[in-house]
Amino acid sequence: MNFSELGLGDGVLKAVEDAGYSTPTPIQEKAIPIVLMGRDILGCAQTGTGKTASFTLPMIDILATGRAKARMPRSLILEPTRELAAQVADNFDTYGKYHKLSKALLIGGSSMNDQMKVIDRGPDVLIATPGRLLDLFERGRLLMTDIKTLVIDEADRMLDMGFIPEVEKIVSLISPMRQTLFFSATLAPEIKRLADKFLMNPKEITVAPPATSAETITQGLVMVSHDDGKRPGGGQKEKRIALREIIAREKIKDALIFCNRKRDIATLHKSMTKHGFSVGQLHGDMSQPARMEMLTRFKNSEFTFMICSDVAARGLDIPALSHVFNFDVPSHAEDYVHRIGRTGRAGIEGHAYTIAVPEDRQYIEAITKLIGRKIPPISETSVKSTNAVKRDGISPAPDNANAKKSVVEANKDTSSVHPQRREQNRGRGRDQSRSEESKAEKANESQKKKMLSKTTTPKKPDQLNDLVKFGDTDHVPAFMQRPKGK
Ligand code: AMP
Repeated sequence: MNFSELGLGDGVLKAVEDAGYSTPTPIQEKAIPIVLMGRDILGCAQTGTGKTASFTLPMIDILATGRAKARMPRSLILEPTRELAAQVADNFDTYGKYHKLSKALLIGGSSMNDQMKVIDRGPDVLIATPGRLLDLFERGRLLMTDIKTLVIDEADRMLDMGFIPEVEKIVSLISPMRQTLFFSATLAPEIKRLADKFLMNPKEITVAPPATSAETITQGLVMVSHDDGKRPGGGQKEKRIALREIIAREKIKDALIFCNRKRDIATLHKSMTKHGFSVGQLHGDMSQPARMEMLTRFKNSEFTFMICSDVAARGLDIPALSHVFNFDVPSHAEDYVHRIGRTGRAGIEGHAYTIAVPEDRQYIEAITKLIGRKIPPISETSVKSTNAVKRDGISPAPDNANAKKSVVEANKDTSSVHPQRREQNRGRGRDQSRSEESKAEKANESQKKKMLSKTTTPKKPDQLNDLVKFGDTDHVPAFMQRPKGK
């Protein structure tokens, strides 16, 4: 099938052709004719499937007739994050280039005055995050009574982010005489409830997630242990060291590093900068211009590693990422699929490595269940580090269950620190433990120097001896032995 068979107008077809797309994706093939008919849609699809064009293309055709009145937009697209909203706005520009449609992008972190001016001119489409839209509505800056097409995108993410009350409020302000297109990656019971409430006789369309795991992405799980007790977020120090070890062995072009918490993004950013890596960061607390600038710089390859949160990175379309690192195991298994789906795109080989601590077991199990297979371990749990420790000529950790040391941790010169002293150290201030960490990490310093350059080069197998070995054998996984340049 090609685009011309879907019922789209000439202007849209020409714009699609200009964009270089010849064949519709499955969701486009299924959704576009239905949207053009005016029916509601319940779409179960995630980013990477071509979902955005499946609603923007027919919407442009629908909006081509008629004009919006001042402050009375004719259509609304709700997105959970600013970045996604900005991407949808870009899509409108790309596919609407042969139409005279106006749009307003209403997102937090950008000038409200500028947004008010655009609303005053009567935009055909509003592309908004829920908070900013309600804010402008409550200030009396717009009326939603003329909205005839409503898109609720990434509903499951709206739910995760706690936006559902806002979404319900917004929908209650829009006339029921509308067409509603509702998309979600999953159909959890709460999402189903919303779909039943918002949609009228919808056509259900489900498409498979974009090709992820099996074919194009090499996955790996690195287990590290720590003696931080069982508190959530424990083992950060050990994970930082493990991350640097993996990076040192890989040929990296561009990589995303996912953290679960904003404060950990900042800490990791600081630590990696200190170790000479070229890094940027992206999280929800940054202003919108700062986020956009960071993203553009990353896309322009001004730095190699982007440390980010799920919220900030959701749906980002960054071509040719060679690696994704999960510095933290995501607590929602779906996020694992979203995260690793940032690499291995368009048939390019991708790599996704996850660093886990023993407390992550339940999350790993949930991921295994979701993806239908185990993430191949490239490290064993801590106890097995003893051999590696001996082999590397460093004294083994005390043979005590509570003093388990990870293979990675074994690389640090903490063997001279008495266990009791280590206990005291843990109680000391942040700065002090940081300085201890930096001392312990010095062993790795020389290797990291080379990461100052933009592209990293893997170590040759015979150079691996000076690095920490993962697991209790001498086996070095094949991916770590790839000759340079392959
Ligand atoms: P989305 O799922 O909307 O985030 O789209 C994912 C990627 O697929 C984006 O880079 C789109 O530009 C691209 N894309 C959209 N439609 C097509 C198509 N028909 N053929 C190839 N790529 C497409």
